[in-house]
Amino acid sequence: MAFFVRLSLGAGGDMKGFDVALGWPSGTVGELDHRRLKTPSVKLRSATVGAAGDVVYCIDFRVRSPNANCYLSSTELHSLEHFLLEGAQRLLPDNFLSIGVMGCQTGFYLTLLNEGRAGRVCEVIAAILEGILEARCVPYACIEQCGNFENHSVELAQQVAKEVLAERGRWLEVL
Ligand SMILES: [Zn+2]
Repeated sequence: MAFFVRLSLGAGGDMKGFDVALGWPSGTVGELDHRRLKTPSVKLRSATVGAAGDVVYCIDFRVRSPNANCYLSSTELHSLEHFLLEGAQRLLPDNFLSIGVMGCQTGFYLTLLNEGRAGRVCEVIAAILEGILEARCVPYACIEQCGNFENHSVELAQQVAKEVLAERGRWLEVL
């Protein structure tokens, strides 16, 4: 896949074409006007090619609409972050780099190495969310592994997972 991306990148770093090759709808890659964003959605924000040809993909997994007074609570963000961390490490062991919460409380930043295919990314996120529905506890929710281990709720995480999975067919409709 990295080879394909390198082929598609122009001499000046032009990213035209590679987004579509990876399955992302044309015109949705990069920073977009937040007033236009649909949610829940999964979009590619950037792809950075290193000197050796490896590619770092930054993906926005947005759960709630920006500036719509429907923000994720600190507990929802925190527990979902733990589930996304555990699931992405397990399902993409060769690709996962990091997961982070959006400070605006509307979603998550997922960073992957050499995996930027829209279909695969959505498949992994869906598998993680489906796993949340079956979970009995939040991963790493213990004092040894978390900086605020009492701020978790498997029930709240399940409600959000259910809400996002209900829109599974529209995750790539970003605009
Ligand atoms: Zn934590």
